[in-house]
Amino acid sequence: MSETFLSIQGVRKAFGQTTVVTDFNLDVDRGEFISFLGPSGCGKTTMLRMVAGFEEPSAGRIMIGGKDVTNLKPNQRNIGMVFQAYALFPNLTVAQNVAFGLKVAGMPKAEADARVAEMLAIIKLPDFGERYPYQLSGGQQQRVALARALAPKPKLLLLDEPLSALDAKVRVSLREEIRSIQKKLGITTIFVTHDQEEALSMSDRIVVMYDGRAEQVGSPFEIYNRPSTKFVANFVGTLNVLDGVVSNPATATVRVNDREITLKKGALNGAKAGDTLSLALRPEAIVLGKQAGRDSTLGGKISDVSFLGSVIRVRVGVGKNAVSLDTFNSPTSPPPVVGEETEISFSAGDVLVLH
Ligand code: ATP
Repeated sequence: MSETFLSIQGVRKAFGQTTVVTDFNLDVDRGEFISFLGPSGCGKTTMLRMVAGFEEPSAGRIMIGGKDVTNLKPNQRNIGMVFQAYALFPNLTVAQNVAFGLKVAGMPKAEADARVAEMLAIIKLPDFGERYPYQLSGGQQQRVALARALAPKPKLLLLDEPLSALDAKVRVSLREEIRSIQKKLGITTIFVTHDQEEALSMSDRIVVMYDGRAEQVGSPFEIYNRPSTKFVANFVGTLNVLDGVVSNPATATVRVNDREITLKKGALNGAKAGDTLSLALRPEAIVLGKQAGRDSTLGGKISDVSFLGSVIRVRVGVGKNAVSLDTFNSPTSPPPVVGEETEISFSAGDVLVLH
């Protein structure tokens, strides 16, 4: 049975005349890993800071563990936080940094030492206690920041773009490490990011934010495969868009260039004959040429071929539109050629109609 641990209810935030978070509602289960994903300036950090208690909501309330914390100070909320900048105390050793919150809470030294050792083992830096932050790599500093946040055993972990200052390889390995520590401790976590890959790979659920609102809340699978708005469809993953005109609403048939495609029942969502539609397809839903089981085909011309190693990304002009698709590299068959006339195939059931 899942149990709501954090509840954000009708929260709004304005700075002066400018509203930056609007009517935000979210229930987070105990132990869940949630990402706030969205472009710069959409209000992710402001929402996180309200959960932390650094900003006061203009309206609405925030409940943690069934208790209304809207008017409580950050240190009364039992949260741990990690920021983008490493924010370790430069004049304290790693062990002293990790012990910081324990000391503030008045934990006896022997107990604090044991907890620090436990935390350093969890972040896999057991022998780094005596080092200073400047003697650590960026990734190591972020792991120490995580250990420091987790040492007082908070009930809620808030992570504000903790990986964005790190190089790509470290970022990927730290993603996995954070997720595995989070799972091991079972700590409810909110992770702010503008990186869709990070959100898709780490989260139980993602809140896609746009212009201060939660556009869609869902599992990575739902967000990617069933985006509920144009914004979500475009922001998460690569999207190919084809223009179509409804030819027969009763059968959900749409004309694209010179061909007719019959979409899923109900996909037109009330559109009438002659209405123009944006039809979206992920690259992996399209194959080059004809293929059994793919019920729809369109004619096109190859406009670009990029050899990426294991896959070849092919761009195909289809009427006024262009679509990208990937084919697997095969060392024994020649790659597609720019300028070639071709067919693309897909299943009508994979077409998303963007409203
Ligand atoms: P980023 O990824 O760039 O950090 P974000 O989605 O986290 O973006 P926020 O930092 O929450 O966005 O900012 C949302 C909006 O609120 C921005 O337009 C920002 O300028 C504004 N804002 C944030 N803090 C304040 C403040 N203290 N006073 C006035 N405006 C603010």
